[in-house]
Amino acid sequence: MAQTKDYYNVLGVSATATQDEIKKQYRKLAKKYHPDTNSNDPKAAERFKEISEAYQTVGDAEKRKQYDQMRQLGAFGGFGGGGARTAGGGRGGPAGGPGAINMDDIDIGGLGGLGDLFGSMFGGGSGGGARSRPRGPQRGQDVEASLEVPFRTAALGGTVPVQLEVTEECPTCHGSGGAPGSKMQTCPECHGRGTVSFGQGGFAVNRPCPNCLGKGQVPTERCPTCNGAGDVRTRKTVEIKVPAGADTGTRVRLRGQGGKGASGGPPGDIIITFTVQDDRFFTRDGLDLIAHVPINIAQATLGSRVSVKTLDGKKVAIRIPPGTPNGKRFRVRGQGISRDGSQGDLIVEADVTVPESLTPEQETAMKAFAEAGGLKY
Ligand SMILES: [Zn+2]
Ligand SMILES: [Zn+2]
Repeated sequence: MAQTKDYYNVLGVSATATQDEIKKQYRKLAKKYHPDTNSNDPKAAERFKEISEAYQTVGDAEKRKQYDQMRQLGAFGGFGGGGARTAGGGRGGPAGGPGAINMDDIDIGGLGGLGDLFGSMFGGGSGGGARSRPRGPQRGQDVEASLEVPFRTAALGGTVPVQLEVTEECPTCHGSGGAPGSKMQTCPECHGRGTVSFGQGGFAVNRPCPNCLGKGQVPTERCPTCNGAGDVRTRKTVEIKVPAGADTGTRVRLRGQGGKGASGGPPGDIIITFTVQDDRFFTRDGLDLIAHVPINIAQATLGSRVSVKTLDGKKVAIRIPPGTPNGKRFRVRGQGISRDGSQGDLIVEADVTVPESLTPEQETAMKAFAEAGGLKY
């Protein structure tokens, strides 16, 4: 059984790296190993998957805390068991190690297909279990894709349209797999049961019939468009749901939309990894939003009130007390990102700016200020 890798090693950062350092390193690696630029290199794809998985955990301050605790206890490989955080539940996968990897994939549901049915029969999830079987149904490949998400969409949740090749019901036969005018007949392989049994160490094990793909019926003549499969691959625009609080490295899974299975096996999934675009005004630190507000030296010295936009476009007033130094932070509770019932804050940082030029009156006043402090002009 494979052990879960050390996520810090995978990313090549120290265990004491800041969230920012981890994010930078992840972006660097993700660019380097991205499937789009390494289409002929399966090792790069594997590496891309690995770093995405690592970043998913240590790239998130809260998950990282939990991970660090586990890591200190030497409890690698123990992540998958609990299942409390496994979206969709029970997709741990039979192969042990890889099951842990899926714990934070957000399952946003398939667009139809047999993914769920067969997923539960074969363990689904990572696909490792199904692929390692030399005979019988084989699950299709998972397809990795990446998607740039606007900052606000990621923070507040929403949808992003993306062009994907997906599996759809065949337009010629509407899913029956039969040529127009052909009749359905009882599958000769399974005699209509939809399952066949095969021996395995003294047991008889049922599996979906590879001839009728579990339907129990086959057409007298196969549909020429889909060759009897009942579905076709087609390019279409899909609205990808972005959950509120999604971050760079967050992954969503489109079940049953990946590569086709073999011998009646289920299709793989499309796994989409988000890259969140930068915003002009906000940056993120976990669930907190950070905004910089410029104030001049008079405001900083004498105190002031400034108005700051929140993520949802409202305005909040911040009181700048007299004697505010550059870089001072003000916390506006509850105006950060909310995710899974947790709510971040808005942190407003004062950028004290020095005027490039002064009016004669301002210059006179400044000199008087300096001279009052003992300087000569
Ligand atoms: Zn068809
Ligand atoms: Zn059959």
